[in-house]
Amino acid sequence: MYRINILAYFSLLINLYIHELGHFIIASILGYDVSIHIGDIHGGKKKYLFKIKNTYIYNPLVAMGYCRYNKKYLKMPKIHNILISFAGILFNILGLIVIYYLKTNKLFSIETCEIFKQTSYCCILINLIPFKWPVLNFESDGLRIIKLISSGNNE
Ligand SMILES: [Zn+2]
Repeated sequence: MYRINILAYFSLLINLYIHELGHFIIASILGYDVSIHIGDIHGGKKKYLFKIKNTYIYNPLVAMGYCRYNKKYLKMPKIHNILISFAGILFNILGLIVIYYLKTNKLFSIETCEIFKQTSYCCILINLIPFKWPVLNFESDGLRIIKLISSGNNE
């Protein structure tokens, strides 16, 4: 039982990394300066543990993360904002496709693949729900996408 719980938690962490990487890659392709923050539960008020290029690790074992964009982000076209907001979820879906491939080719145990699949669903669903993250007060991707779609003309 503990083994499955540990596997599920690490699977959730991997899904979080994949999710933030999605935001990071699409934002970088669109020309924005972006950094990933993993395990920061204090909203940048405390110093990170270590950093690898644009990735700041506060606590690698805390399944909480976000991307921070440069000031240009505030003036980005709405379509860029929607694409970047959706990119995290898209990468979680791509992760599901990869795990399906690994499972059908028996490259990982069925149990591991199932756990990864379940945590991917959790990650996708949680991020689609429109809400504000407690403490950090960040908008979920779902809330941001809904606000952007319902805000009318390009601002
Ligand atoms: Zn996200």
